[in-house]
This record gives sequence, C-alpha cells and structure tokens, in this order.
Amino acid sequence: MQTNLIPQLKETPPGQEADAILRSCVHCGFCNATCPTYQLLGDELDGPRGRIYLIKQMLEGEAAGDATRMHLDRCLSCRACETTCPSGVQYSRLLDLGREHLEKHHPRPARERLFRKMLRVVLSDSRRLARLIPLARWFRKLLPTNIAQSAASILDSADIKIEWPAPHHPRKMIILDGCVQAATHSHINAATANVLDRLGISLLRPQDSECCGALSLHLSAPEEAMQHMRRNIDRWWPQIEAGAEAIVSTASACSSTLKDYAYHMKDDPHYATKAARLASLSRDISEVIAAEDLSPLHSSKLINNPIAFHSPCSLQHGLKLEGKVETILRACGYVLLPVSNAHLCCGAAGTYSILQPTLSNQLLSNKLDSLEAESPHTIATANIGCLIHLQSGTNRQVKHWIELLAQASESK
Ligand code: SF4
Ligand code: SF4
Repeated sequence: MQTNLIPQLKETPPGQEADAILRSCVHCGFCNATCPTYQLLGDELDGPRGRIYLIKQMLEGEAAGDATRMHLDRCLSCRACETTCPSGVQYSRLLDLGREHLEKHHPRPARERLFRKMLRVVLSDSRRLARLIPLARWFRKLLPTNIAQSAASILDSADIKIEWPAPHHPRKMIILDGCVQAATHSHINAATANVLDRLGISLLRPQDSECCGALSLHLSAPEEAMQHMRRNIDRWWPQIEAGAEAIVSTASACSSTLKDYAYHMKDDPHYATKAARLASLSRDISEVIAAEDLSPLHSSKLINNPIAFHSPCSLQHGLKLEGKVETILRACGYVLLPVSNAHLCCGAAGTYSILQPTLSNQLLSNKLDSLEAESPHTIATANIGCLIHLQSGTNRQVKHWIELLAQASESK
C-alpha cells in the first residue's frame, strides 16, 4: 500500500513504524473473514482492512473525528486478523499507534476520559479492587446488568483459598500475581504453585503485585503502562539476579504483554537492557508445563469430566500457542470436546465487555453456544478476563485449566 504520511510524523519513530506497517498491507481483505466485529456488523470499516484505511487517512493528515473513533473503539484487539493475514501485517501495533494519535489530536469528551481513567485506577491495583469486592455484595442490584453478572461470578470465587507451598526446590520461578486475578481469583496462582511444586519447581511470589501494563496500553495510556513495567522490573530484578529461571504468568493476555516489555521499553536508557532480559525470561504457564515430564500429574479417573476449552485470543493469536493447553490437558487424562469457531473472541477483550457491552454480549452468547454444544462437564480457559466473562453467561463451571491439572494430580 502506498503511503504519504504527514512529514513531521514521518520523522518520528512511531510515524516510521506506522508507515512500515501500512506499506506491508496489500489490501487483499483476507483478514475480514476472521474478524469478529466484521462478522457481526458487516461494515468494511468494522473490519481490519477498513480500520487500517481509517488509520492511514488520519496519519496522512485527513481530519479524524467521532466516526473514526467509533470504528477503532469497536476493535477487540483480538489479533485474529494477524493470524489470517498472509502478508504478516502487524495490525495490533498499528492500532495502538492509531489510537494514541487519535487521543492526542481528537481527545474524547471529558466524561469518557474520566471513566477510562477510573477503570485504569481501579482495575490495575489488586488491593484497591479487593477492597471493592465486598461492596459488590451490597450494590449488585444497582450495577449495569453486564457488570452485575460478572460481579456475581467474582463473588463466588473470591472466597476460595488454597495454601501456597513453601519454596524448597532449587529450581525457582517468579509469578506475575497481577491485578484483577490477584483480587478476584487468587486461588489460580496458588493452584499453579502446587502444580509446579509437584514438578520440582518453587514458585516465588513477590510481596506486592500490580498490573503488567496491559490495561493501560489497551486504554491508550502508554506512559502509565511503562510506569507499571518499570516497577515490575524493579520488583523482580533481585530474584532474577539470584537465578530465577522464568517470570511466569497464568493470564495469557499478561504473558503476551510481558514478552513485549523489550519492545515497549526499547527507548528507555535506564530500563531497556533489563526489559529485554525480562522479556526473554517471560513464559506463559502453558510453555512452562509443556516443557516438563507430566507423569506426576496424570490421572486415569478424569474420563467422565469432558472439557470444552476456550483458547483466549491472547493465547492463540498473540502468543501463537494454539493447541498447547489442549495437548497438556489430554496428556494429563482429560477428554476434550470439539469446539466450533474456536478462533473467535468471547467478547471479554480487556475492558471491552464494559465499554462495548452490546457487541461483547453478542460474542459471549455465540461463544457459549459453541462451548456448550457438546454438554461439557467444565469449560476451561487460560485468561482471567475470559474466565469472568464466560462465567457471567452460564451456570456451568468455568475454570482456569491449571486448576484442572491441580485436580488431576489430587485425584490419582
Ligand atoms: S491486513 Fe493482511 S489480510 Fe488484511 S488487507 Fe492487509 S494484507 Fe490483506
Ligand atoms: S483485532 Fe480482532 S476485532 Fe480488531 S480488526 Fe483484528 S480481527 Fe477484527
């Protein structure tokens, strides 16, 4: 695709990056076939190719306004289009650059900015969020339906407590405790620590935790995201220096962000080298487990608990780890049911379920139809946002797959 970016923009690193991405697109439109919002809305501007054009026009100096924002806001950042694109177009990087440019040159109304800031402040701090959970018990009836449904599933999970094993193995890894999951489903990382303990690995939990930066990045606040990243690097650095093998995340969206620390911090003279080391050590929990001998976790008593697995977009399109969790679950004795349209987003997508409830609920309904078609005993997934969102729409239990591994080894 030919481009003609605004000269002063073309001289900047973000402008050059956007220009290179735009030029790599050959305008074939294959990506539209797997775009969830294009499938729902049927509008070219709600598909990846149309959004690429909107960003191009904006960066070439054409006035961009509320219509451009609406189409970019409707994008889930699911990256299904990247998996489909035969030319390797880095759509999500371009989208981030386009959204930042739009926020700068055509700011949203103050009310919207305030609401987004509030989401970042509340959701990125696990202690703040944990203090709000008891309030949700009292005010559930006053919340908008989609948030009230999620609150109900969170309240059921917040009370589950699992003991964290003492760190006695020579092999050690650090866990990203994160923000939302640490407040609402802290038992998932405790289950992970127990599973890794059985495999001969101690999981270290730094004293306090915070967001990996994903939340701020997705809400177009990159400098705030980098503050989270710097604090996380400082928090983990002593244990990295002491020989920790990996930084592990049990939320695939956070795993994807951790692997991008090198990219986001590349221009920071104080943190670029450390960020690159951290990114090279970061592992999604599925990568860690897949590399180990799983025989201590296998059970032959799980045949009657068939599972429907929802592979989060961050796992299959972001990390390109499609099929890894399914292979692990089968190796541990679980039966996995077929799921149609597995490449499509469930509608959680960070804060999308809050900011775009209509589209999000349509995607949720379609996803649950696919997952429940074969009447699974349990739905499993690999990302906390998907887990909460899926649970808000079904009475069937939705679990993180690592909880199933903990159960497998207990049932031996
Ligand atoms: S992003 Fe890829 S698939 Fe989509 S129009 Fe461009 S080249 Fe084609
Ligand atoms: S990221 Fe997802 S929603 Fe956005 S354009 Fe690509 S496929 Fe469509």
